Formats: sequence, structure tokens, C-alpha cells
Amino acid sequence: MNRRQFMGLMACVPLLNTKMFAYETIPPVLDTDIFTTKDEWKTLVSLRNRLNKVKNHIGYANFNVVPLDKVLVVAKSASRIGQFTKDELDFMDKLFYDDPTKYGFYGKKIIDYITYEIDEKDTVKIGSTGQYLFKGKPVEDYNRIIKDVGRDIVLTSGIRAIPKQISLYLDKIYSLDGNISGASKVIAPPAYTYHAIHDFDVGKKGLGAGNFTEEFAKTEEFKNLVKLNYVDIRYVVDNADGVIYEPWHIKVS
Ligand SMILES: [Zn+2]
Repeated sequence: MNRRQFMGLMACVPLLNTKMFAYETIPPVLDTDIFTTKDEWKTLVSLRNRLNKVKNHIGYANFNVVPLDKVLVVAKSASRIGQFTKDELDFMDKLFYDDPTKYGFYGKKIIDYITYEIDEKDTVKIGSTGQYLFKGKPVEDYNRIIKDVGRDIVLTSGIRAIPKQISLYLDKIYSLDGNISGASKVIAPPAYTYHAIHDFDVGKKGLGAGNFTEEFAKTEEFKNLVKLNYVDIRYVVDNADGVIYEPWHIKVS
């Protein structure tokens, strides 16, 4: 076991490292993994803080669907956030436009431009979840799932606009001490998420962060979910995209 793997294991203990959630899935560190440079790490920390401030300012639900241009305007106009620096903008561009195969991610590109905007008219807010789904098949599938599996299943992540996916990707790189390759195995890089166009995640009420681990696959809700002939799981075991098994991620097609 090398130092990084050891640190990774130690990081499972929340008391020793508050960056990690007790349930977080930690991919093994490979010799070929690409890490942020020292300068990028500094930028990552400030960028992540600034995006979090925007999220607090506009609210969790709004942050799921807000486009980048609006995020930049909000940051500039609120003195307690402050405008994004050139380094932060460049780093977001890099994470968005990079070819992720060098990080071991082989999924399909979903969104071409970092300025991609979701039309509010195409979305529906789902109850008290703070999440949105696209009208049409996604929301129809979700409602069918609730009807067929029961009220203990819940939407844990719906539509994610680009800033939201960048924010989640940064969180993951941060929690993995700058390992971009490791992060790309547990979350799609910003231009590559199906959450931007139709997919969504479900979980069991009360399971918390365990909903984003294989714990979810052990629940009755999951067992009933996979019996439904209209439900597909996007990232199955050993998928070609290079993503970990995600039993919670519903493929809408
Ligand atoms: Zn997902």
C-alpha cells in the first residue's frame, strides 16, 4: 500500500479527515492517475468556495439548474461572493473541454458548450426534494417509479446544469486530494453528464449518503426497482464508460 492509498483509507474515518463522508466511495489510486498541479489545487479551492457561495446565495434548488453566465453575473453583483478570477474561469474551461479519456473516463460527450442553458419551461420542480426533472419521459418515469415502488423511494439528484456538475466534480477531486482520474470514475466530467439532458438518481428515504454507494443496491426499494421493465440502470457493473457501478442512476431513453 502506498502513501496515497493509506491516506485514502485513513480518510474514511470522519474524525481524522472531515473532507470525507463516512459512506463515500473511494476508488483505488493507480500509478497512472492524473492529479491537479499545485497551482490548480489553489485555484480549485478558491473556485469551489466561490461556487458554494453562489449556491448559498441563490439557494440549493436554483443552483441545480442555473447556467454559467448567470452564475458569473450573480458572483460579480454580490460583494460577499466577488467575481470569478481568470484562473478560476480557465480551470472551469479546462475541466469542461478536456478530453477525459486521459482520466480513464470513456463516456459519451453530452453537452458541447460550457454556456449551455436549460429552459425553465422544460423543467418541473419535484415536491420538497429541491430537485428538478425534465418534462416528458423523465418525470413520467419518476412518477411511475413512485407509484410502483412506493413512497420510500425518492429523487436524490435530478437535472444538473453545468455549474452544478462542475461543483460536484470539484468536490470529488477535492475529497480525493486532487486526483482528477479518481474523481472521473465516480462522477462524470462536466460535459459528460446525462443529468444535463434526462437521467436522474433515486434513493431510499433515510439512507442519506449511503444512497450513493452500493448500500442502495441492498435495499428492498432497489430490488423492486430493477423488476420494473421500463427501468434501466445507466452505469452497470464493469460499464464501458469507466464509471463505478451506480445502482441509483436511472437511464432515461
Ligand atoms: Zn446520477
